[in-house]
Amino acid sequence: AFRGGLAGVITVTPPRLTVSMASSPTTNNARFLMCFDFDETMISENSDNTVVNLLPTKQLPKWLLDSYREGHYHEFSGKVTAYLAEQGITKDALLSAVQKIPPNAGMLDLFRFLQSHQQDFELVVVSDANTCFIETWLEHNGLGHLFRKIFTNSSHFDDSGRLMLQPFHSHSCPRCPDNMCKQVILREYVADREKERGGVGFQRVFYAGDGSNDVCPTRALGPQDAAFARRDYPMHKLMMEMQQSESTEIKANLVPWVTGADIEDYLAKIIKER
Ligand SMILES: [Mg+2]
Ligand SMILES: [Zn+2]
Repeated sequence: AFRGGLAGVITVTPPRLTVSMASSPTTNNARFLMCFDFDETMISENSDNTVVNLLPTKQLPKWLLDSYREGHYHEFSGKVTAYLAEQGITKDALLSAVQKIPPNAGMLDLFRFLQSHQQDFELVVVSDANTCFIETWLEHNGLGHLFRKIFTNSSHFDDSGRLMLQPFHSHSCPRCPDNMCKQVILREYVADREKERGGVGFQRVFYAGDGSNDVCPTRALGPQDAAFARRDYPMHKLMMEMQQSESTEIKANLVPWVTGADIEDYLAKIIKER
């Protein structure tokens, strides 16, 4: 599934901040890898916005918004969680708001479908959110056991109730925010799994996302693979532009999705091919 070189992408000693939720023996030799972004892909909101909406004003003050530096969203998120704690938004309030975020339409059915085909699919989350939010949401929805790995920024609450965030890794990809390149994560995971499985790689790799930082990992996909891009969201728009400029950088099939059913339909056809 992974053809072509790793042009311009060199990892710089990434600290491993992954959380292993489950590793069912039945998924050990799954033919396919399915990767999910979290915010606005699995869930219907951006969890950063959800927690800002807990403020009485439902918005951040201008001085805080003005402090954002392009490409340093992670640093900004740290300032936001500090501000939320100062404003009296507790850990319980944050986590309960995250639990209540509805899944995107058709996503629970898609997860049921994937669970019923767990001999075929290994599932991972690749997200620039954080461990506390993702684990809380997955556990609340009874989905934690489905995912073999969650790649996201490590987080914990300090004594004052502030959510502390650590950058996932460092990398040298010029296209990605400084704390996370999802392509580096995907390439390393696929290579590690192939080794762990005695040289057996995935037949196909699938990636479902919505955001601009979901484009980079799809550059690692081959012609057998598919990039599920939420229709009319930044990932889809950027990939359409790349296709229109006849760029050959994306080899995977671009499959726009509106609901999880669009992804399920595509995967159901792939399973039948054999
Ligand atoms: Mg997203
Ligand atoms: Zn990147």
